[in-house]
Amino acid sequence: MTSYSLGSLLYEGKAKRVFVTDQADLVAVEYKDDATAFNALKKAQLAGKGELNCQISARLFELLEREGIATHYLALQEPNWMLVRPVQIVPVEVVVRNIAFGSLCKQMPIEPGAPLEPPLLDLYYKDDAFGDPLLTDARLERLGLLTPAQRQELERLAMAVNACLRQFFAGIALQLVDFKIELGFTADGDLVVADEISPDTCRLWDLQVSDASDRILDKDRFRQDLGGVVEAYGEVLKRVQGACPSPRLGK
Ligand code: ADP
Ligand code: MG
Repeated sequence: MTSYSLGSLLYEGKAKRVFVTDQADLVAVEYKDDATAFNALKKAQLAGKGELNCQISARLFELLEREGIATHYLALQEPNWMLVRPVQIVPVEVVVRNIAFGSLCKQMPIEPGAPLEPPLLDLYYKDDAFGDPLLTDARLERLGLLTPAQRQELERLAMAVNACLRQFFAGIALQLVDFKIELGFTADGDLVVADEISPDTCRLWDLQVSDASDRILDKDRFRQDLGGVVEAYGEVLKRVQGACPSPRLGK
């Protein structure tokens, strides 16, 4: 990785800050300790969360790359900083569910914990002002965000990410219940997995624990006031690290 110097803040979101650098093909992402849920109605500072999510994300992006799935990730920089390729984020949150849980069970007559086979893929419009609504095919077409071929590629990538992560997590005794990813277009026009992959964006259940609350190792601990959020994320990192010890380091 060539050396670079940090430039101005490009964008500050709820969980990360994105900075430009003196190199056009490099942006730096800082993972913050801020936790938010329910469209930022619930907020807290959780010391150590940024670093844990950054460390987990770096390793999961590298895992995807090894499986041939392109991502924005370049290298880990500092404990809570990573270097990524700048992308034009598609304002669509892609959610893949292996087990029914959370909002799905409030919108459909389906029992929490019911397996979804094949996995269920939903697209949501990424816009906090509108509350990230579920998209229909007709609405997606009306928004004109993706050509039919790009949409097909986006869904293909999301299902490939699910297959890869699901198998990986099962190997470290974690059940991948569901997850959200964001994708973006690189300067070359390639669609890649961007943003983050962490317990903030994945539901993960500990397969070694049977109690329905105790097994939760993701942001639901924060949403449901279960406590032990940072400890749970730490357990996820410990297991991910056991399987993927050392991520690429930038300079
Ligand atoms: P949000 O509050 O929208 O969830 P986050 O704090 O999670 O924001 O992340 C900051 C922003 O950075 C998000 O809008 C996300 O889409 C964007 N982003 C993620 N990866 C990249 C990238 N490689 N290039 C440009 N923007 C990115
Ligand atoms: Mg986000």
